Amino acid sequence: MAYNKNNNFNIQLNLKVRGLPQSATLVINEKSAELIKQGRQIYKLGLGQSPFPVPRPVIDELKVNAFQKDYLPVKGLPSLREAVAEYHCRRHGICHSAENVLIGPGSKELMFMLQYVYYGDLLIPTPSWVSYAPQAKIIGRNVEWLQTKKENFWRLTAEELEEHCKDDPTRPRIVILNYPSNPVGVTYTQDELKKIAHVARKYKLVLLSDEIYGELHYKGKHISICRYYPEGTILSGGLSKWCGAGGWRLGTFIFPHSLRWLLDSMAVMASETFTATSAPIQYAAVRAFQGGDTIEKYLWNARMILEKLGLLLAKKLKDENVFVPKPAGGFYLFPDFSYYREKLAEKGITTSVKFCDKLLEEAGVAILPGASFGRPVDELTARLSFVDFDGASAMEAVEHLNGKDELDEEFLETHCAPTVKAVHFICEWLRLIQ
Ligand code: GLU
Repeated sequence: MAYNKNNNFNIQLNLKVRGLPQSATLVINEKSAELIKQGRQIYKLGLGQSPFPVPRPVIDELKVNAFQKDYLPVKGLPSLREAVAEYHCRRHGICHSAENVLIGPGSKELMFMLQYVYYGDLLIPTPSWVSYAPQAKIIGRNVEWLQTKKENFWRLTAEELEEHCKDDPTRPRIVILNYPSNPVGVTYTQDELKKIAHVARKYKLVLLSDEIYGELHYKGKHISICRYYPEGTILSGGLSKWCGAGGWRLGTFIFPHSLRWLLDSMAVMASETFTATSAPIQYAAVRAFQGGDTIEKYLWNARMILEKLGLLLAKKLKDENVFVPKPAGGFYLFPDFSYYREKLAEKGITTSVKFCDKLLEEAGVAILPGASFGRPVDELTARLSFVDFDGASAMEAVEHLNGKDELDEEFLETHCAPTVKAVHFICEWLRLIQ
C-alpha cells in the first residue's frame, strides 16, 4: 500500500468522482432525518419517494418467494422479462419480445450502464432529474444541456432538439426524455411526442425514454413515445414509483430489436458487476407486472390522491404569486419564487441553494434547489415532492369515501396533513419576507 512521508495513505481519488457530492435526493433525505433526530419538526418534501405501500398481492408474492436463493440469469428472471414485455404490450401497445427486456437493480443502475457502454454525448433538457448528468460525468461522457422555456413549463420542444442537433447531424447522442417529469410534474401531448420522435429519427438519436412515472399519469392516459420512434427508443421503467417500491430496487429497460447490441453489452457489464438482480424481488415483480383488479384499484386511488393534492398545493402557491406549472402526473411541483427576488436578496438569498437552506432552517421544510436539476444557480426555482404523508391510511380513507363524499380540501388536510401543512408554512414564510 502506498504511504506518503507523513505515513498517511496516499489517497488518489479517481478524478471523475473527485469533487462530486452525493446525490442531492439522498443527501436531503439524510439531512432531514438528522434534523428530526435532533428533535426538530421537519417536513420532508425532498426525496421523491412514493408515499403509498406496495400493493398487497405483490407483498404476498414476495413473502412466498423469500426462499428463492439462487443467482438468477444476468438479464433477468425469464418469467419477469415475459411479464414486463406483456405489460407494455397490454398497456402501451408496444409489443417487443421478452428477449428485448433487461432487468436491473433499479433503472438508475441501468441508465448508468447504458451511458457506460454507449459512446455518444448525453443530451438532457434542463431541468432534469439530479442523477443523469453526474452519471455521465463519472463515466467521462460529454453532457449537453438542452435549453427549455419557463413559459412552456420547461418542457423540451422538437424545435429545441432540432436546433441542438442540426450543426453536427451525424454525432452519436443519447437524449433522455422523462415524463410525467421529474422535477416539473408535467407531460407531453401526443402531437408533441410525435414531433420530438420525428427529430430523433432524423438524427438517429438513441432516445432513452424514462417513463417511470407513466402509471402515475393522473388520468391513466400516459402515452409512450416508443409508439412514434420504436426503432430508436429504449423504454425505462420499474417498480419504484407506481408500485411504491423504491427500496426494492427493480428497474426495467425494453430495447428495440435494432438496439439489442446495447442490451447485450450491458449484460456483459452486469455480469461483471452486480451479477443479477435480487431473486425474491424479481419473483414478486412478476405479480406486479401481471396487474389485475386489485392493482388497478390501487393505481386509481394513488392517482386520485396525487392529482387532488398536487392541484391544491399548486393553487396555494399560485395564490402567493409563485409561478408553478399544474402537475399532470407523479408527485412533483417545480415552483419558481422569482416574484420574491428583491425581498429575498435583502435577506441575502440570491440562489436556489440558499433559498432551500433558509427555508429548511426557518420554516422546517425540506425541498431541493433548482440548481440540482441543472437550472442556473441564481434562478429561484426548487423541486417540491408532495409525499410527506401516510399513503396507506390515505388510501384506506379513499376506500371509505361513499358516493356523496368528496376527495376535497378537508380530506387532504386530514389525510395528507404534513404535506399540506408544509406548503402552508412555505406560504407563511414568503408572506413574512414581503
Ligand atoms: N427519483 C427519486 C428522486 O428524484 C429518488 C431516487 C433517487 O434519486 O435515487 O427524488
